[in-house]
Amino acid sequence: MKQIGMKYSGSCHCGGIKFEVEGDFQEGLECNCSMCSRKGSILGFVPRENLKLLTPEDRMATYLFNKHIIRHHFCKTCGIHPLAEAKDRSGKPTAAINLRCLENFDLGALKIKKFNGAAL
Ligand SMILES: [Zn+2]
Repeated sequence: MKQIGMKYSGSCHCGGIKFEVEGDFQEGLECNCSMCSRKGSILGFVPRENLKLLTPEDRMATYLFNKHIIRHHFCKTCGIHPLAEAKDRSGKPTAAINLRCLENFDLGALKIKKFNGAAL
C-alpha cells in the first residue's frame, strides 16, 4: 500500500535519471556493507509504488552482488547511484532511495541509523 508523505524530486548528477518519491524520511540508514561504504549513500525506504521514475528505465544500469536480492541502479552517464529496488521481508516491492540525491531535502535534520550490512 502506498505510504503518505512529502513528495520529493530526485535525480542523478547529469539528470539522466529523474524521479519523484513520496515518503516520510525522518531516519536515514547508513550501511557498512562493501557497496554502501564505498558509495556513501544514506538510504530511505518506501514501498515501490511511492517511487515514480520520470526517465526511461534503460537510462539506469543495474549492479547485483552478494545474494542478488537488491538491484542497485546507477546512471550510465554520470555513475551516481540514486536508488535501488528490492523486496522487503514480506515480499513487498520496496525502493531504497539515496536521500543524498533528493532536492530540497535537509540531510542535516536526519536521524542516522547505522546498519550492519557487512554482517549479512
Ligand atoms: Zn547521470
